[in-house]
Amino acid sequence: MPRRCALGCPPSGTRMHCFPDPEKYPDKFLTWANLAGVKLPYFRICQIHGENLKKYFVSTAINILLHSWCRSINRILSGKIVYHGDDFTKNAAQRYYNKHRHYRNKK
Ligand SMILES: [Zn+2]
Repeated sequence: MPRRCALGCPPSGTRMHCFPDPEKYPDKFLTWANLAGVKLPYFRICQIHGENLKKYFVSTAINILLHSWCRSINRILSGKIVYHGDDFTKNAAQRYYNKHRHYRNKK
């Protein structure tokens, strides 16, 4: 008997994506269920919804990383933090701050 997608898709015979084991990884399972909008106790989603969920995870991760990176650039430019790492853009921001910090508050 084909298994149904937790989001209500009819059985299609395609590969199903399983959620993390709720007993072994309860936090991970609840995160997946909340993101997918799945009502418990269904633990599988179809391939189409699985791919959409993967895209959502990747998009969210990229947004968080990009936001964090931009925030650190802004903190370097405002002098709130000092950067000494290997990131080219962060180093450029630090050089810019070092070069122009004497002009701050001189109006
Ligand atoms: Zn589905």
